[in-house]
Amino acid sequence: MNGVCEFSSRCAVFAGRSVAPDAAFRYRDHFCTGDRRACARWALASAIGIERVPDDLLPQQHARADEFLIQVV
Ligand code: SF4
Repeated sequence: MNGVCEFSSRCAVFAGRSVAPDAAFRYRDHFCTGDRRACARWALASAIGIERVPDDLLPQQHARADEFLIQVV
């Protein structure tokens, strides 16, 4: 997918609020402007909305995202 992730303006990781600046840079490069379909935050946001995604969920934490989804649906 091209372009920047559609959740970027409301995403804590993209904004660097919940991770260190160097980590935010790497995540933006790899996921947000790269393969966002590989991002656990993107998958969870697509299911329940970015507002409900925990700020500290990291893009590679797919198992945690799945557990969270099971709890909230
Ligand atoms: S961390 Fe994931 S959900 Fe957030 S802007 Fe990047 S790709 Fe989108």
